[in-house]
Amino acid sequence: MRIKTKLNLGVGLLFLLIIILSLASAYFVFLIKQDTENILKANYNTLEYSRKMISSLDDLALDEKKALALFKENLQKQALNVTETGEKEATENLVFHFAALEKNTSDESIKTEIRKAIFDIIKLNLDAIKQKSDIAKKTAETANFSIAIIGTLCFLIAFNLLINLPNNIANPIKELTLSIKEIANKNYSERVHFTNHNEYGDLAKSFNTMAQKLQEYHSSNLYKLFFEKKRLETLINNMHDPIIGLDNEGIILFANDEALKIIGLKSEEVISKPAAELAISNDLIRSLIVKENTDTPKKQPLKIYAHGKESYFDKETINITITPTGEETEINIGDVIILRNITLFKELDFAKTNFIATVSHELKTPIASIKLSLQLLENTNTGAMNDDQKQLVESIKEDSQRLLKITGELLNLSQLETGNIQLNIEKSNPYAIVHYATEAVKVQAEQKQIKLLIDADEKLQDVKADSEKTGWVLINYLSNAITYSSEKSTITIKLKEENNEIVFQVIDTGKGIDARYKDKVFDKYFQIPGSHKSGTGLGLAISKEFIEAQNGTIGVESNLGLGSTFWFSLKANDK
Ligand code: ADP
Repeated sequence: MRIKTKLNLGVGLLFLLIIILSLASAYFVFLIKQDTENILKANYNTLEYSRKMISSLDDLALDEKKALALFKENLQKQALNVTETGEKEATENLVFHFAALEKNTSDESIKTEIRKAIFDIIKLNLDAIKQKSDIAKKTAETANFSIAIIGTLCFLIAFNLLINLPNNIANPIKELTLSIKEIANKNYSERVHFTNHNEYGDLAKSFNTMAQKLQEYHSSNLYKLFFEKKRLETLINNMHDPIIGLDNEGIILFANDEALKIIGLKSEEVISKPAAELAISNDLIRSLIVKENTDTPKKQPLKIYAHGKESYFDKETINITITPTGEETEINIGDVIILRNITLFKELDFAKTNFIATVSHELKTPIASIKLSLQLLENTNTGAMNDDQKQLVESIKEDSQRLLKITGELLNLSQLETGNIQLNIEKSNPYAIVHYATEAVKVQAEQKQIKLLIDADEKLQDVKADSEKTGWVLINYLSNAITYSSEKSTITIKLKEENNEIVFQVIDTGKGIDARYKDKVFDKYFQIPGSHKSGTGLGLAISKEFIEAQNGTIGVESNLGLGSTFWFSLKANDK
């Protein structure tokens, strides 16, 4: 039954019973009142008339006329107030005897008859009073009984409402509140169990439907997330490059099979462990979690024993940041370390370096013998040459000189790449290095009528350097400066000391370098597009290796069209 109907019925019934109780009480009170009135009107008056008639009879001797009149008056009233059975005959009997008395007032026997008749009437009425009083008593008892029954009914209904109604209303609300709390705590399997066919039943049905839909939505989302997670894990696992994921506190979140293989640990020994803790006992993890310093010019590939041989890996650490929903600032959620297997390229690179080293080494001897033969040809003792022949010999000389420069550079490079470079760092005189280099390019400068100006500070300290390699770098700078400067210009070689370092600068006023290529000119085989094609693009790369191998720094400042300043600095030899 619906709560509203229940309330309506309960309160309505109570209301009805109260009305019935009131009506019944009023009715019974009316009945009792009627009974009393009945006794009063019908019997009490008769008794009163009778008393007055007896009294008149007694007063007959005193005042006959008045007594007879009073008797007559009361007799007439009695004749009009006949209510009981037998009373009519008794009254007629009294009328008869009174008529006789009027004729003869002194007759005592008539008086006796009259008294008898009056007593008959009194008796009849007294009996009636008794009977009516019994009826009134019965009515009162019935009233008591009926009111008690209706009152008890009222009490039972009110008591039932008092006990059940608050619980009926409050209990489902209590259960519903608890269930809502459970749903709020993400316990979507929660259901309410009141199944009555009232408003709460409807509420329970709606609540359970809502909970079920939430549960379905939640589990379908979870399923999707699990599926996507599995897909990503499989993807990462199937990658041939080792991949390791760390959270922002350095805890390892995932490591694919390749990564586990090279680390030499099992998944359960790695996942959810702090990388810093594992790094204590695992050298490889230590080198993986080291953050690269962006100032470090060149990162070396990692040499790791993997796949049954020495392998080379290029490490890349990607910092992962996200912008949480509803926020504007990015937060760091960790790093992904990717190791790219570059062993194949390294092997090819080694093969290339070895090949270059062998070829350049093998070429040096025949080139030297060509140069010797040219010298012999130029000697007049071997025979005079005409002008055309002389020009041919000159051009062969220039080409072999260039060939020698190229093979020299290639040999240097291969030595650098294989790590076979032999440095002879010692206390060297910077003025001597500058002198050696300017002498070496003197002829080349003269050919373009370029003036070489040395602007050196006085009393410079000696420098800690391999003078041959440093001289080679300076010659390369000067040679480039001459190549890329116009005729009759000036090239300045500046020598100064700064922060306990000796700085060598070659300043030209040539074509300069576009800012786009400034950092690239030191890369191997790089030549600025459209520049002098006869070079190899190796000179500056070798220079960089030579200077950095001596713990020096190297660089260039340039303005396109205005000239360039190539420089390097080396530690001063302070005692
Ligand atoms: P190359 O053998 O080609 O000269 P380098 O490594 O010595 O090789 O130089 C690399 C490139 O840098 C050159 O191709 C040239 O374009 C540019 N370059 C070098 N020095 C200068 C300079 N002084 N002025 C302008 N460009 C230069």
